[in-house]
Amino acid sequence: MKKASLIIGVILCILPTYALSNKPQKAKNLAKTAQDYPVKPVPFTSVHFNDQFWAPRIEINRTVTIPFAFQKDEETGRMYNFERAAAALKGEELKDKKPPGYPFDDTDVYKVIEGASYTLSVHPDPKLDAYIDGLIAKIGAAQEKDGYLYTTRTIDPEHPHRWAGTKRWELEKVDSHELYNLGHLYESAVAHYQATGKRSLLDIALKTADLLDRTFGPGKESIWPGHQITEMGLVKLYRVTGDDRYLKLAKFLLDVRQPDAPKTSNHRPEYNQSHKKVVEQTEAVGHAVRATYMYSGMADVAALTGDPSYLNAIDKIWDNVVTRKLYITGGIGATGSGEAFGRDYELPNMTAYNETCAAVGNDYWNHRLYLLHADAKYIDVMERTLYNGLISGVSLDGKLFFYPNPLESNGQHQRSPWFGVACCPSNITRFLASVPGYVYAQKGDSLYINLYVGSTAEIKMDNGRTVKLTQETRYPWDGAVKMTVNPDKNSNLTINVRIPGWAHNDAVPSDLYRFLDKADEPVVLKVNGKQVPIKVDRGYVSLNRNWKRGDVIELTLPMPIRRVVTNDAVTADRGRVALQRGPIVYCAEWPDNPGGFVRNLMLSDNAKLGAEFRPDLLNGVTVIKSKATAFAYDEKGNVIKTQQDFTAIPYYSWANRGRGQMIVWIPNSEASVKPRPFPTIATTSKVTVAVPRTRLNPSRINDGDDPVSSSDPSSYFDWWPAKGRTEWVQYAFDKTATVSQSEVYWFDDTGRGEVRVPASWRILYKVGEEWRPVESNDPYGVEKDRYNRVSFKPVTTSGLRLEVTMQPNWSAGIQEWKVK
Ligand SMILES: [Zn+2]
Repeated sequence: MKKASLIIGVILCILPTYALSNKPQKAKNLAKTAQDYPVKPVPFTSVHFNDQFWAPRIEINRTVTIPFAFQKDEETGRMYNFERAAAALKGEELKDKKPPGYPFDDTDVYKVIEGASYTLSVHPDPKLDAYIDGLIAKIGAAQEKDGYLYTTRTIDPEHPHRWAGTKRWELEKVDSHELYNLGHLYESAVAHYQATGKRSLLDIALKTADLLDRTFGPGKESIWPGHQITEMGLVKLYRVTGDDRYLKLAKFLLDVRQPDAPKTSNHRPEYNQSHKKVVEQTEAVGHAVRATYMYSGMADVAALTGDPSYLNAIDKIWDNVVTRKLYITGGIGATGSGEAFGRDYELPNMTAYNETCAAVGNDYWNHRLYLLHADAKYIDVMERTLYNGLISGVSLDGKLFFYPNPLESNGQHQRSPWFGVACCPSNITRFLASVPGYVYAQKGDSLYINLYVGSTAEIKMDNGRTVKLTQETRYPWDGAVKMTVNPDKNSNLTINVRIPGWAHNDAVPSDLYRFLDKADEPVVLKVNGKQVPIKVDRGYVSLNRNWKRGDVIELTLPMPIRRVVTNDAVTADRGRVALQRGPIVYCAEWPDNPGGFVRNLMLSDNAKLGAEFRPDLLNGVTVIKSKATAFAYDEKGNVIKTQQDFTAIPYYSWANRGRGQMIVWIPNSEASVKPRPFPTIATTSKVTVAVPRTRLNPSRINDGDDPVSSSDPSSYFDWWPAKGRTEWVQYAFDKTATVSQSEVYWFDDTGRGEVRVPASWRILYKVGEEWRPVESNDPYGVEKDRYNRVSFKPVTTSGLRLEVTMQPNWSAGIQEWKVK
């Protein structure tokens, strides 16, 4: 075994996602001449934010989210797993041999260490440093002699988690996550080494990587990670050690994906992108987080090997995403089924999955494509995701999280302090800490300004110059940016100033979305007070001159409020508009609109829109004000229209004030409006179920929303995973009422899940504390795709119960239950 030799010297300047050494890479072991991304990012350690938008957020991440995530890692036994594995290795008899909740629980510890390490690089904290040292000691003690590190198997090799398989790597192609865990370990270890100079975690990581190198490769075992990230992680190990075995292994783990490989899982091969050789893939399919991590790994390997076939593939996949599978919020992964990309133009709003991790992965990937192509269209996508569908994943106080990030809600969604599968909170911790690394990039004597954030930076250029650059701006609320350039001495440099797509009438770099109107207020750019022509090439205006200390660049990006419409192929957004101002996408949420209803509003195209900064609201946001028309049914079923005040808030800031309605795509024509149902005995009832459940909110069955079909996924309740049982749901009426009719619309997800119409059901009514069946001669129907009506002898009661007996081996569920 060849020993990995570390590049000597402290690597001061690194970017989290791919640590670039200032020293030349060791080239002699590479198959081709060593090469890298043509454009290099300016590491986050060189850029310091002092603005009102990002700086407080990153500080909350450091002071609240990271300690909170460590606390959750402890409370949920994720650290304890390492302790138990270590005890087992010492030969101790374990009292508790229960496997971890999931075989990938180890990664949540690695990811928070990674995020904490980034904060340590810019904010020394001896207490945190010592705490991490303690964790690393526990991780090291759980590592087997030959380098193997996977707590669920080490705790009890005879009975690991059922996804782990009976022996090492057996189920790796999808379920075991052994290689996935190691990929996160590598990312974390490199971050920790670069932040502290300590080799403790890096040595653990390298020992596992050497085990992988002995195990996998040409002439050895052939397998690919069931969940990608190992490839990106190995590339980071290569960058930090210069040992090309890690790069070769990363490439091998990508290339080994073969469509004809033996099946090892119930998942379709698309699920983890193993349906084709990676270089032959042209469409984004399957699990969205796995996909973006793989595409990012392919970008890394393309950059480092110069092999154009990877680039060719990810360029095509990017086109597919940006023209057909990207939400206006920058979220990706439309469907919860397999946490996956949907079909072309399948972009539902209420059921949009948009996992927070997929937003993080989308930004990793777009940033890498930018570094390969030096084209700001990738920054446009990255910025859209960053300001909208990514930071929506964490609450303003830093303690509550979204896993899916839907674009519409009837109140069924709310943030959660943690999840059984806790990938999203820990991904947030590491991503937010590294945001300053996405602002600048450089190449030779060219400097690229990609994001606008009040900040100071010290940028070391490839040509040996150092440039200090300050930005003064209220972005994203205001598009005026003043930049002061201070080179160490007068130098010829090209400073490339990004003009975001949204500022020149391109909503996205494709025809998926467009602005309804043309904005005519021009972008203005001045150098030392003198206006320069706006000639945009690949998203930049290039300013080539002899720069002197104190030169000032002033950029004015007008921020009119824009109405966005979608390509007509997206059925979910037809007859609707979204609102955007600068990079921020808006939504209407219940607390800001009369009556707390927003899903019944229409915003006509000629309604005047105004922007107003509200320092008191949601940590300071610019809101959009207008007039809208509210639609509601009256008692007789007539539609009543009312003009009312309308307020929209930034999408990222929703769900910080409790549950309720939210909408991003607002109808702009009457045909798309769903009038608010007239309050009925059912919709005003309190809903309870026999077994209180947290997975789905039972109040979905009396939200007054008529489903499109039994399989409509937008707002149903089911008892899954319970099967073959008798269960009930009941209404407690507002006040005693006389009722004589009940209508049930069953939920049934044939083809997707395990819920079917029930075997039988009946209605009971409350008499005192007792439940009695109603008297009826009607059959209790179990038809799909319609209401099943039962009339019964009138009863005067305070509540009704719907008792459901499921079919054997199937679960049951309800779309809507009406009572008269
Ligand atoms: Zn996640």
